[in-house]
Amino acid sequence: MSALEDIIKSQIAQNGPMDMGAFMGLALGHPEHGYYNTRDPFGVDGDFVTAPEISQMFGELVGVWVADCWMRLGSPARFVLLEAGPGRGTLMADALRATRKVDGFHEAAEVHLLEMSPVLKAVQARALDGVDVAGRVIWHESLESVPQDVPMIVIANEFFDALAVRQLIYQGGGWHERVVGIEGDALVFGLRACPMALWPQFGKPREGDVFEFSPARENFMIALAARVKSQNGAGLVIDYGHMRSGFGDTVQGVSKHKFEDVLNHIGGIDITSHVDFEVLGDVCESQGVSYSWATQGEFLRSIGIEMRAAALKQTGKQAGGEAMEEAIEKDLQRLVGADQMGELFKVMGVYHGIESGIAGF
Ligand code: SAH
Repeated sequence: MSALEDIIKSQIAQNGPMDMGAFMGLALGHPEHGYYNTRDPFGVDGDFVTAPEISQMFGELVGVWVADCWMRLGSPARFVLLEAGPGRGTLMADALRATRKVDGFHEAAEVHLLEMSPVLKAVQARALDGVDVAGRVIWHESLESVPQDVPMIVIANEFFDALAVRQLIYQGGGWHERVVGIEGDALVFGLRACPMALWPQFGKPREGDVFEFSPARENFMIALAARVKSQNGAGLVIDYGHMRSGFGDTVQGVSKHKFEDVLNHIGGIDITSHVDFEVLGDVCESQGVSYSWATQGEFLRSIGIEMRAAALKQTGKQAGGEAMEEAIEKDLQRLVGADQMGELFKVMGVYHGIESGIAGF
């Protein structure tokens, strides 16, 4: 039994069963034993692989998108370039490398990273060591300390899916909340009554349907949208999920590239769920910032990934022959292919104070 499992059990013994959001928050983010705070989970030898870890093209294109937004904002002399949940720092390193030659851009960019994990902060510092803005990178554990006095451009790739969700289950004509409780010596799922104020306001549920909602994601999006509104700027939220709210159990435990029961190896496996982009869009509307949606495939094609892949293939062929060319094509397909990440992953662009709109949608 893990130390974290003990902690969760004693909390349940004291306060009664906990909702999935509280459980997921502890499993991923407990300061001492939480999944992200104790490891670098990325890569072939880790638990999962993200887009920036698949190919440099991803971060490069996001970098070009950021530089384009900066110009559309009128090339301000100073701006906040914020990444939420930067993982290994690969996206930011590739984005900065790809924009070296954009006149004035690096001088203006103040890089801020929102990261809770001490292990990953160290990995990020290494990734950014030697890139142009090294030494001007500032870490935060919450959005509140990020400067408010200049425009802000934000990137969040696979950040929202790591924020906790709660689950309701439809049974016997009403919704109940899924909770984690104790039976004998084991953690088990159970149900508890759910106030009607939390019931979903759409669709006609069938027996056993699951509805997921995430106060953690909504609150972060509210704060982010409010910032983009008051400071001017733009943001990209990239994640797996759906553009319309619906019913379905999408919570999954992942370890070594395989699904795992979320009650097993608590703190040792990743727990995520699909992001409901409709809710994030509603937040933008209520905050008065503009937003657009695309699939990851559409977005990356629209900002030129095929041209970038062709250029890389050209130099790759000279350096490493056809194998190199094939590897680049394979990475491209992983990122944009409809049966790979291209359709499951969505991109939401938000902006305010940019009359011409933003690229990619
Ligand atoms: N963007 C990266 C990593 C995605 S994994 C990539 O694409 O590879 C999620 C990242 O968010 C990790 O860096 C994790 O430590 C961080 N994270 C998760 N929840 C967080 C929270 N509540 N506050 C700050 N960082 C968080």
